[in-house]
Amino acid sequence: MPGFKNKVAIVTGAGAGIGRALCLELARRGAHVTATDVDADNAEETAVLIAETGGSAEALPLDVTREQDVRKLIFDAAEKRGRLDYMFNNAGISMGGEVRDMSSGHFSKIMDVNLWGVIYGTLGAYEVMTRQGFGHIVNIASFYGLVPLPLSTPYNTSKFAVVGLSHSLRAEAAGLGVHVSVACPGYIKTDLIKRGDMVRSTAEDALALAPFSLYSVSKAAGVIVRGVKRNQGMIVFPLHAKLMWWATRF
Ligand code: NAD
Repeated sequence: MPGFKNKVAIVTGAGAGIGRALCLELARRGAHVTATDVDADNAEETAVLIAETGGSAEALPLDVTREQDVRKLIFDAAEKRGRLDYMFNNAGISMGGEVRDMSSGHFSKIMDVNLWGVIYGTLGAYEVMTRQGFGHIVNIASFYGLVPLPLSTPYNTSKFAVVGLSHSLRAEAAGLGVHVSVACPGYIKTDLIKRGDMVRSTAEDALALAPFSLYSVSKAAGVIVRGVKRNQGMIVFPLHAKLMWWATRF
């Protein structure tokens, strides 16, 4: 079991779903957690839940699309605590639909959060962590960053980019004491899924997509095995948001 005791972690998108579950689990394992979210009230609620279970946390509002805000939050948190051990770039949005109904604005909207938000968080943490000579950046991509989900091209594009960013930086960071991983969760029932803005899933759709789904799963299995073999820090978490901390082991 990895020790998170007295470690300092920042989580983006911590006001709901995977981000909140991750914060609770990190705090339960002894880390001090800075829970950030564009929804300040929800971030606060996460910190309260942690405090109720005896954990250590603070909540801060943060829109990951604002580079200067992201940098400032990371530097301030590291300075206040004297270190930054973990940066979890988790905040994300989804979008489904046919590309012929979309404009570049649809792509920009999703890239701003899912890719640029991750880039800002990664760069800020990387600066602090290379200076201190240790640290772990975990980017939350998706299963759909390994194989595409039909009718979700902007989402897939953003998540493939996050996988690419993480793998690329991983090699460069290794010599500087910084570990970079990317987690590719499967299906976890959060608001993102419940809102249903990712796929239009009628029974008819599901049936039509069944052969593709089988193909995707077998393709993903191959990608994962190759990734793990090459120690690329890639893993799929199909079941529970609570398990996301495992990414720090890869
Ligand atoms: P969620 O919608 O339940 O939570 C996302 C959180 O991100 C929300 O609290 C939201 O307020 C916050 N957020 C949105 N835009 C933001 C911004 N600009 N700045 C800061 N915070 C912002 O979603 P989730 O299911 O918990 O997803 C978390 C991450 O996991 C996302 O990156 C998502 O793509 C990824 N993911 C989820 C699943 C799944 O099955 N739920 C699968 C694969 C990947």
